[in-house]
Amino acid sequence: MKCVLSSSASAELALLKNILQNAGIRCIELNEQMAQTIPLAPFQAELWVENEADYAPALALLAEWHHPTHTGGPAWKCSQCGETLGSQFSKCWKCGQRRAASA
Ligand SMILES: [Zn+2]
Repeated sequence: MKCVLSSSASAELALLKNILQNAGIRCIELNEQMAQTIPLAPFQAELWVENEADYAPALALLAEWHHPTHTGGPAWKCSQCGETLGSQFSKCWKCGQRRAASA
């Protein structure tokens, strides 16, 4: 078993556990009970993967969740300089061209 995450926010932990399980990664929460019983306790709830082979994929999933690479849309291409931009940008960071409605 390997710990992939520790958090004092049990709701976040439960959500991430769900994400991992949906991806077919077996994982368990530790210390959850204690963290809820004693909110100000110095320890945190932890999320562990049962299979060490799942450790890297689990971390990738968690990273994706914390820093989504695509936020609900395909990347678009600047009509002026051709730079490829993430859907979260409304303007080209390179040349300042606004995103065209059709892009
Ligand atoms: Zn541009």
